[in-house]
Amino acid sequence: MPKYIKCPRCELNYITQSMKYCTLCAKEIEEGLQEWQDEPIICPFCYKNTMQPDDLMCSQCKAKRNKCDS
Ligand SMILES: [Zn+2]
Ligand SMILES: [Zn+2]
Repeated sequence: MPKYIKCPRCELNYITQSMKYCTLCAKEIEEGLQEWQDEPIICPFCYKNTMQPDDLMCSQCKAKRNKCDS
């Protein structure tokens, strides 16, 4: 029978000794690493503000553009 130990991170969930963290913590760590690896992307329109990787421009340029359009 596998021996169960407490997860060293949350100390709430039990894990087997072959696991490093519980599945919840492993998921959190993985997501945290992904965030960490994401470098801020500089807006190609103003070269000043940062923006999300999925965005075309920063929120400020977006706001400006919306104003111009209307
Ligand atoms: Zn945990
Ligand atoms: Zn911008």
